[in-house]
Amino acid sequence: MPQPAPRPERPFTLGEVFDDEGALSWQERALCAQTDPEAFFPEKGGSTREAKRVCVSCEVRAECLEYALAHDERFGIWGGLSERERRKLKRRAI
Ligand code: SF4
Repeated sequence: MPQPAPRPERPFTLGEVFDDEGALSWQERALCAQTDPEAFFPEKGGSTREAKRVCVSCEVRAECLEYALAHDERFGIWGGLSERERRKLKRRAI
């Protein structure tokens, strides 16, 4: 029986929350860290509405989107955009 693929995780659940100068990084202020992480990685065809609603109020939205674009994040909602929306944005920037 096929096993489901492991779900990607946010870097801030695993990684550093301080930058090189010891200041709090943007991940520390991520609004989604206080919500249901499942909403940010919906199944294919699943609703992204709830995650995007959270992103609208997030103070680090720009940093989050920049991170996702720089790291070529393929899955989930980052900076209020889906994978597809990020791909479109990248194509327009080229
Ligand atoms: S913009 Fe959205 S995905 Fe990014 S940190 Fe904020 S709430 Fe999380």
